[in-house]
Amino acid sequence: MVDIEKLVRPNILALKPYSSARDEYAGGAGIFLDANENPFGELNRYPDPHQRDLKHKLATLKAVNDNNIFVGNGSDEVIDLAFRIFCIPGVDKALTFAPTYGMYEVSSAINNIELLTIPLTTDFQIDVEKVKLYFADSSIKLLFICSPNNPTGNLMNKRDVEYILKNFNGIVIIDEAYIDFAKEASLISLIDQYNNLIVSQTFSKAWGLAAARVGLAYANSEVISLFNKVKSPYNVSKINQQAAIDALTKFEVYSERLTLILKEKERLIAQLQELVIVKKIYPSDANFLLLEVEHADSLYTALVAQHIITRNRSKQVENCIRISIGTPHENDELVKALKDI
Ligand code: PMP
Repeated sequence: MVDIEKLVRPNILALKPYSSARDEYAGGAGIFLDANENPFGELNRYPDPHQRDLKHKLATLKAVNDNNIFVGNGSDEVIDLAFRIFCIPGVDKALTFAPTYGMYEVSSAINNIELLTIPLTTDFQIDVEKVKLYFADSSIKLLFICSPNNPTGNLMNKRDVEYILKNFNGIVIIDEAYIDFAKEASLISLIDQYNNLIVSQTFSKAWGLAAARVGLAYANSEVISLFNKVKSPYNVSKINQQAAIDALTKFEVYSERLTLILKEKERLIAQLQELVIVKKIYPSDANFLLLEVEHADSLYTALVAQHIITRNRSKQVENCIRISIGTPHENDELVKALKDI
């Protein structure tokens, strides 16, 4: 067990989460003259700051309690708030791996927190021996593990993740933005076992709601209560809370689309394997593929010229581009364009 209070920025501990008489009002109806809203219209009222309906549905789906869930403005908000809760600017540090998701770096820079990075192994796994060297540094408050990792697509070895959870005296954030596409289950089931574990997920990928900006953190209730202290009161709009609830309600739509994306991924892999310009397709547990090609920069530009936008990741992994799995038609167009280049 990690002493969570010791990790928290001292000014945060004393804060109280936002709450109002209306929030606590159980009946649902009433005359609300407390928030200077316009009394007319359909979207005239502030949304539920606690996102109770959404959390309730998620709690059932994920077999956790409502107070194990934080709902954010995308999971990028989870990353940002974690820095603000646990790291004193200019003093504390965070740790992650390379290559990985870029927002850990961006958010740490915005918050004036030094982000240390450890290179992943050649098969993009965690080098536990190197991580161990950092365990003694008590200024490292956060450790980000992206699994499946962006941009490489692989899951991190569960044994290594558990070793870190057991031995690191700070907060471990497992970013599971792509977990619904993966062959292994989420690590949410470990939140009761490790009080330093935060699992972040999102409605932006498998749930198809990137426009809505709804992200999630799962952790023990003590950690979740810290997120509630620092979030802005109405961080997720009513429209977006409803969009997420609707997506959860239409579970068949979600699962049909997920199945199609996974099928398309296999079809695309088979077609890409036939192309000489594709030197390597890295194994992927996500809805994207990392391809090693002859000349990533020129290939990327050639695809842009055909109005096909991919992600040139050659600065992180030499001569690699990352492609998202599209619709069957989009994938066909990609393969056609690649054949013509
Ligand atoms: N984590 C990872 C690994 C991602 O790739 C992304 C988005 N590309 C996010 C988090 C952010 O997702 P959201 O839309 O929930 O902010």
